[in-house]
Amino acid sequence: VRRISIHVKLTAWYFVTMAVILVVYAISSFGLMRASMLHALDHELHYKMSEVLEFLDTHEMTTREQFDRAFSATSDSSIVGVFVQITDDHGVLLYESDVLSWHRVPILPPPPADGTTALYTTHGHGWPVRVISKRVNVNGTLEDVRVIEPMRDMVGSFRFYQMYLLLLTPIALLISTSFGFWMSRRALLPVERIRQQAEAIDPSDLTTRLQVPATSDELSRLTITLNAMLGRIERSFRSIHQFTADASHELRAPLAFIITAADVSLRKERTREELTEVLRKISRESKRMAQLVEDLLQLARADAETSKRDLAPVDVCEVLHELESDLKASAAKKNLLLQIKTPETPLHAVADSSDLRRLLVILADNAIKYTEQGSITLSVADQKTELQISVADTGIGIAPDALPHLFERFWRADQVRSRAEGGAGLGLSLAQQIAARNHATITVTSEPEKGSCFTLHIKKSASK
Ligand code: ADP
Repeated sequence: VRRISIHVKLTAWYFVTMAVILVVYAISSFGLMRASMLHALDHELHYKMSEVLEFLDTHEMTTREQFDRAFSATSDSSIVGVFVQITDDHGVLLYESDVLSWHRVPILPPPPADGTTALYTTHGHGWPVRVISKRVNVNGTLEDVRVIEPMRDMVGSFRFYQMYLLLLTPIALLISTSFGFWMSRRALLPVERIRQQAEAIDPSDLTTRLQVPATSDELSRLTITLNAMLGRIERSFRSIHQFTADASHELRAPLAFIITAADVSLRKERTREELTEVLRKISRESKRMAQLVEDLLQLARADAETSKRDLAPVDVCEVLHELESDLKASAAKKNLLLQIKTPETPLHAVADSSDLRRLLVILADNAIKYTEQGSITLSVADQKTELQISVADTGIGIAPDALPHLFERFWRADQVRSRAEGGAGLGLSLAQQIAARNHATITVTSEPEKGSCFTLHIKKSASK
C-alpha cells in the first residue's frame, strides 16, 4: 500500500466534505430561489385574475366586438397591460390581448369544468409562460378566462443564477481546499520537527530530550510523554549498565583468586598436602561463583518475567511449618534456636506458593547468616486485609544509615563478612522482586547488635 501522508488525507477529506456542502448548498439555494419567484408570480396572477373577473362582472359583453371595445376603452390600470385570453366553454375565442394575437399564441387548454382555478407553465411561442385559468359564469353564460404572464425575465434570472453557481462553486471549492491543505500542513509541521529530533537521538547519549513546543496542546503533551518515556529508557539502560558492571566486578575477584592460586602452585614442585589445600580453595571460590551466577540468572529471569503469577490462597501457617524442617539444620549448626509462631487456625494469603517459600527462605537464611547467638523467630500476624509474616533475629542488626540500601543489588553492609558467608548482596533484591510480583511489600526494623526484623506484608485471601 502506498503511503499517503496525513496532511494529504486530511485535505482529501476536507475537499470531499466541502464539495458535498457546496453542491447541496448550490442546489438548494437554486431551488429555493426558483420556488420563491414562482410563488410571487402566482400571487400576482391570482390578483390579476380577480381584477379581470371583476371587470367581466361589471361590463355587459357577449360578442367579440363588445369585448374588444370594452377592453380597448378601459383605462383601468389593473386591466390595461394584462394579457388575457377569453373563450366560451366550447373554446371559441371571445377576446385576446393584442400581444397574444401578434405572437400567435394558440387557444390555451380549457380550465377545469368544476370552476376551480388551474395554474400551470406552458410554452407559448418560444418563451415559457405562466397561466392561470378559471371557468366563470357571467350572467348565465360560461366563459373560460386565462390570464397569462410571460416568464422571460424570470427564466433569465434563473439562467444567470445557475451560471453564477456553476462558476463560483468550483472556485469556492478550490480556495477552501487550498486553505485546508495549507492549514493541515501548518498544523503537522511540529510533528515533522519532533520526528527529526527523535531521529537525531543517539543511543550512546540518552540524556537528550525533545524540545517541548511552547503551546499547551496535544503535540506538547505528546512531547512530554515521549520525554518521560526517554527518561524511563535512560534509567533502565543505566541500571542495566550498572548491573553488568557490578556483576563483572563480582566475578572478577574469585576468578583472579583461582588464576593466581593455580599459577602460584604450578611455579614449583608442591607436596600433595599443599596441592590439596589449593584445590580446596579453588573449589570454594568456584562454588561461590556458581552461586553468584545462579543468583544473577534468577534476578534476570525475574526481571524478564512479564506474565502474571498464578496467585491463589496459600495457607501461610502450613508454609512456615514446612520451612521449619528445612531451616532446622542450618540453625542448629550455629547453635541458634528456631521458633515458629503460628495461630491454630489456618491463615490464607493470596500468593504464588513457591514464590512465598523462596522469599521466606531468603529472609530466614539471612537471619541465620547474620546472627551469632540467640534465636530466629518466624511468625504471622492477622491484620484486617493483610497478613504480616515476620522473620526476626537476635543478630548483628543493621545500622540506620544502611537501611535504605538494603534492597539494592550487590549492596552489603559488611563486604568481608557477607563474602565469608557466601553472599553477593543479591538476596534481598531478589526477595523484593518476588514480593512485588505477588503484590506484597517488605519492611525492615533493626537495631545494631540487637537484631533485625523483616516483615512481609501480603494480601489476605478473602475467600477463606
Ligand atoms: P547477602 O547475599 O550479602 O546476604 P542480601 O541482599 O541478602 O545479600 O543482603 C544485603 C545485606 O543486608 C547483607 O549483606 C547484610 O549486610 C544485610 N542484611 C541482610 N539481612 C540481614 C539480617 N537479618 N541482619 C543483619 N544484616 C542483614
